[in-house]
Amino acid sequence: MGNGKGAFFYFCAMAKDDQFKKVVSHAKEYGYIFGSSEIYDGLSAVYDYAQNGVELKKNIREYWWRSMVYMHQNIVGIDAAILMHPTTWKASGHVDAFNDPLIDNKDSKKRYRADVLLEDYCEKLEQKAQKEIAKAKKRFGDAFDEEQFVSTHPRVVRYREQQKEILGRMAKSLGAEDLADVKALIEELEIADPETGSRNWTDVKQFNLMFGTKLGASAESATNLYLRPETAQGIFVNFLNVQKTGRMKIPFGIAQTGKAFRNEIVARQFIFRMREFEQMEMQFFVRPGEELKWYEYWKETRLNWHLSLGMGKENYRFHDHEKLAHYANAATDIEFDFPFGFKELEGIHSRTDFDLKAHEEHSGKKLQFFDPELNKNYVPYVVETSIGLDRMFLAVLSHSLQDETLEDGSSRVVLKLPSIVAPIKAAVLPLIKRDGLPEIAQEIVENLQWDYNVVYDEKDAVGRRYRRQDAAGTPYCITVDHQTKEDQTVTLRDRDSMEQVRIHIDQLKEKLKKSISYEHWLKNVL
Ligand code: ATP
Repeated sequence: MGNGKGAFFYFCAMAKDDQFKKVVSHAKEYGYIFGSSEIYDGLSAVYDYAQNGVELKKNIREYWWRSMVYMHQNIVGIDAAILMHPTTWKASGHVDAFNDPLIDNKDSKKRYRADVLLEDYCEKLEQKAQKEIAKAKKRFGDAFDEEQFVSTHPRVVRYREQQKEILGRMAKSLGAEDLADVKALIEELEIADPETGSRNWTDVKQFNLMFGTKLGASAESATNLYLRPETAQGIFVNFLNVQKTGRMKIPFGIAQTGKAFRNEIVARQFIFRMREFEQMEMQFFVRPGEELKWYEYWKETRLNWHLSLGMGKENYRFHDHEKLAHYANAATDIEFDFPFGFKELEGIHSRTDFDLKAHEEHSGKKLQFFDPELNKNYVPYVVETSIGLDRMFLAVLSHSLQDETLEDGSSRVVLKLPSIVAPIKAAVLPLIKRDGLPEIAQEIVENLQWDYNVVYDEKDAVGRRYRRQDAAGTPYCITVDHQTKEDQTVTLRDRDSMEQVRIHIDQLKEKLKKSISYEHWLKNVL
């Protein structure tokens, strides 16, 4: 139990960046996210999705599901249980190795992930390098050759080399369980507690992130279980069931979305790192030897999915893993430029046959595929795509929240959510509350609500209602006025451009369909 309401606002006080504070408070004010059980002071790093948040989250999930399952004939979905046989987690390696290295500061009593302290240090080096690059770009203008600059400028070269050295040594030490060296590295770099500046550190220890629970009525006979720390294992244990009943032929994929639980050591970045969160994962089963081809395919396809939402190419980058997990032969993260810098949003991993083989060994069941073309059985290799739904939510929310100064000098707060994922697609507004205008507006709501989540709003002057809908992220406002009674036209106002056009009520559905259809948004993914 934790610092609850405190936890919700905690980051506000700590945030280096104003934008992030704004995102957190906007999320609460506009009904996107509340701290969990706030009336009891909450639970740290656990959050509830509010009336608008639940819609945005559902829409992002749907956008992912359609691109993975509906748009790939060889991918099907499942929904496995959160509770699984405990041997699952022995086989997957989570019981023995799902640890994070923790370190405490003896003065501030604050707890940190040792690897994150080192990664943040490297991020600062990278920021310094970026500053040099930006300066030079400005100085040289069109003649600037970035590739040449970064490979020859002594300070940039040094910053990059240092990062490589630090991350390389950290990966080696963690891999060899040499926690003393991880501490030594933190001390050598003189890394201080980011909150207090103290360098008085404890030793580094390993901490298992799985939540335990019990199944059964009496204490003696109860079985120890875990809340799943990832959804992927629910896919692996069902590999054969799905392959047989779905008559799937390799290559094929199984997709799943659902809750996962991790007892994170440090969870201070709002919904970026939660203790209960949701994943959207897909395991793609392929012929051994073809995994790297599919790995490249999924890297490109997943990046295209992100780009299709129109949040700017420059806000994404790949971060290839320096040191691979023992079972992986390639791995990368898609990082997004959150208000606190580039951080992992999605992982794409070539996991070889590690998981299926481990489950074969522990269950004694064969988890193989008979390949008619090769005329032989084998354990398929797996390429995984794994994205956190809550992190994606944060990416969308933080990118969309903007303060705009308008031509007349006034300003507005606008949430420029991609319309396909916006919670409310349109607000229908009678200009005034009489003369039959509310009735016409209600009729429009009733006509549109079959296909779209729309709201009716008659309170306050229309300008204030526009601002309210802008801040809530509603892409369209439909206004009914006296002219509507004469010629059945309404004004359709676009949230982003604020342009208003007059269209006939009968054209509304068609107009919304054009800009808010999956076809319109997803067509660039493949
Ligand atoms: P990190 O290094 O940030 O802890 P990870 O590498 O452990 O993440 P994976 O195990 O690869 O993450 O999980 C896949 C995805 O699940 C991540 O890319 C992220 O989007 C999401 N995710 C993981 N842990 C959390 C969490 N505690 N809260 C929210 N989302 C999470």
